[in-house]
Amino acid sequence: MAKFVVTPSSEKQRAAWTGGGIPEVERVRPGLWSIPVPIPINPLRYVLVYALELADGVAIIDAGWDTDEAYEALTAGLGVAGYTIADVKAVLVTHIHPDHYGLAGRVREASGAWIGLHPADAGLLRERYDEEFIDALVAKERAQLLRCGVPASTVDELAGASMMIRTFVTMAAPDRLIEDGDRLDLSGWDLRAVWTPGHSPGHLCFAESSRKLLFTGDHVLPRITSAVAVHPQSAPNPLADYLDALAALRAFDVEEVLPAHEYRFLELAGRVDYVMEHHRERLAEIEEVVSGTDGVTCWDVATKLTWSRPWESIPSFMRRAAGNETLAHLVWLESRGRARRLPGEPELWTRAEG
Ligand SMILES: [Zn+2]
Ligand SMILES: [Zn+2]
Repeated sequence: MAKFVVTPSSEKQRAAWTGGGIPEVERVRPGLWSIPVPIPINPLRYVLVYALELADGVAIIDAGWDTDEAYEALTAGLGVAGYTIADVKAVLVTHIHPDHYGLAGRVREASGAWIGLHPADAGLLRERYDEEFIDALVAKERAQLLRCGVPASTVDELAGASMMIRTFVTMAAPDRLIEDGDRLDLSGWDLRAVWTPGHSPGHLCFAESSRKLLFTGDHVLPRITSAVAVHPQSAPNPLADYLDALAALRAFDVEEVLPAHEYRFLELAGRVDYVMEHHRERLAEIEEVVSGTDGVTCWDVATKLTWSRPWESIPSFMRRAAGNETLAHLVWLESRGRARRLPGEPELWTRAEG
């Protein structure tokens, strides 16, 4: 697959990313700021929070992870733009992952801002972040891993692998639910929500048509592909949702893409085509593994695929993610009649015909 490389629209920002650092706060357009907010223990290093100047304050897209370091970086970044936390009127959250949503509650406490989230993600909040429901969610994850063929000896380690990140999220219910196509009432901005499920069920992008900008959250990133996985909180066929949303986005008239990680860039359609081709190749690779057997577990399929490093050296929480992403591809193949699931414990996958 020919590598399509996007053109960064801020050389400085891209250089900071590739150099292993954190970019500066930058003015993207008059009234629009990019504020990198560090995220802990994560190779993505920071989330790009966007601040949109309003007549009476500022709206932010995403908030960052709930740590003191993140809160201070956000406060300092708003300071560069001439604002304080108290000036934040709205927090538009692209999706519920802790690096985007985690700090929203603390920002609201300090400012009285309203928090907006898509209903499909809002509906997952309690199960994901409320102490009372955590054990039930871990149990569901464990059951899925066993169905996928994860060896019993490692299933508990994998099932609990993401539990520690919960400490970084303040459980805060949204004040407004943002649906597909909703126009956000922000003075000076022509901002419309675009529902782009897949990476999370309620993922939102925000299109600014008068400035031809698209805020893509984690849905489209310049260098890495968005993680799309089957897990207890995903939709049944998240890859189908993701690819449909991607196809719909391709037609948008956009001059600059403003993602939540890495760096902003120019070519939306080129990047969309590349990501689609990536998934087509992955689907073909998985179909080939499955069609060569009379029944193979999802976990065994995952170990046979090409990853960025040898399977044995991938840390457990990333192996779990790899398994869940493989399952998303298997489910997509099944939905298109290109693979078949043989129910059982574990489930086996095989070629579609007879
Ligand atoms: Zn995410
Ligand atoms: Zn993210």
